[in-house]
Amino acid sequence: MSVRVRYAPSPTGLQHIGGVRTALFNYLFARSQGGSFILRIEDTDQERYSEEALQDLYDTLNWFGITWDEGPLVGGDLGPYVQSQRLELYKGYAEELVRKGLAYYCYCTTERLEQVRAQQDKTKSSFKGYDRRCRDLDAPPEDGAAQPVVRLKVPIEGKTSFTDLLMGTITRKNSDVNPDPVLLKSDGYPTYHLANVVDDHLMGITHIMRAQEWIPSGPLHVLLYEAFGWDPPLYCHLPMVMGKDGQKLSKRHGSTAVRDFRTKGYLSEAMINYISLLGWSYDDQREFFTLQELKELFTLEKLNKAPGVFDYKKLEWFNGQYIRKCSDAQLTELLLPFLEEQQVVDNPVTQEQFDILASALPLIKQRLHLLQDVGEMTRFLFQEIPVPPADQLIPKKHTAKDASRVLKRSLELLEDMDQYSVEQLEELFKAESESMGVKLGAMLMPLRVAVTGSRISPPLFESLKLLGLKRTLSRIEAAVRLLDTIEE
Ligand code: GLU
Ligand code: ZN
Repeated sequence: MSVRVRYAPSPTGLQHIGGVRTALFNYLFARSQGGSFILRIEDTDQERYSEEALQDLYDTLNWFGITWDEGPLVGGDLGPYVQSQRLELYKGYAEELVRKGLAYYCYCTTERLEQVRAQQDKTKSSFKGYDRRCRDLDAPPEDGAAQPVVRLKVPIEGKTSFTDLLMGTITRKNSDVNPDPVLLKSDGYPTYHLANVVDDHLMGITHIMRAQEWIPSGPLHVLLYEAFGWDPPLYCHLPMVMGKDGQKLSKRHGSTAVRDFRTKGYLSEAMINYISLLGWSYDDQREFFTLQELKELFTLEKLNKAPGVFDYKKLEWFNGQYIRKCSDAQLTELLLPFLEEQQVVDNPVTQEQFDILASALPLIKQRLHLLQDVGEMTRFLFQEIPVPPADQLIPKKHTAKDASRVLKRSLELLEDMDQYSVEQLEELFKAESESMGVKLGAMLMPLRVAVTGSRISPPLFESLKLLGLKRTLSRIEAAVRLLDTIEE
């Protein structure tokens, strides 16, 4: 039987690292097995539904190059793939269970349910949840709600087990399962449990790969499959994703929304690569994988039981590596939107600016970690910069006079800069700092800030060469003039 797996997000928030990891692993498993990857929108929670979240889902999967074989926008034989378009179907299945005596109408009002809960809290009852009042009713009660809900009759005795490919057999006493969860709400919408089980069955899903937080729903779902007389799919709950502190990854660790990473200038290839290693590894050596390679190499056997640790620094490092792997043309393509957005170049870029970018590219490529830093790193090449404030020009533990002195000396040294190579300039400044009795850093820092306006820039002497003699000297002169007005 060919593999059919699905990603079934609820469009209630932006796609985050954990969700995308689930999508990716399902996609990779389908591709590695020559199976099908299905996208299903679980939008039965109308209150939390968000159009923006749905758009973000499509944008994110597209950006990663994760394509689905069946689902919204592409269709398929077993659609519709949006749960709000399948309401009649769920209703029919809920009624079938009522007919079979495996589910029942519950007429309890919200007020009654609240009273039951309050009473349980007050008496510190060991039994929590719905008290099953309507489980064996013969007729609707007088004081009942106008629109009943449908609840599953969870067996009171016995146990329910399911086998998880990663975790082994998981067993729960039926008395520990949610007492008679709602399957169909009074507004005719199914709950997650009903819609999820019905759809996984009707869509022929063979393996359910999802986050571990869904394990508690497992026994309940298995009971539902049994009630319908269906075979449950195979389960594989994926390892947790944690922050470096061992806590479940959350906003406390930093942003987790894929959109934020994208805005900062992470490459989709770097993210895919890094995310693929959150709970999976090929062996204990290899770290770099393209999506194409992952599609061939991914196997469930190589999932780890131990949680994946999401390390922001490591991802940033990966991003730098992927930037260095780009061809010049690719990198230019990636950088231009950032430069335009940050108004470093015109939109669209002029030929002259394009040429400047091309000349700076080799330097940028060596230094950049996040595409968004390109503006700060290169603005000085494209635009006149304001004279930097004095405190930026003066190294720690130095005075304005010191900074002015080294800049004046730099001016003299740089007058002939066109005749020297970068290496020769480095030598020259090193020798000079020694003979002036200042540290090399204290000599180069004011120069870097004076010329580039920033403490982070591509390698200094290369930058000066790109900028050219005239602009280099005039920026140093402006900085010196400013420093010389300062009284100590
Ligand atoms: N709609 C659920 C979610 O948002 C799907 C869980 C599952 O995969 O069964 O994660
Ligand atoms: Zn009831």
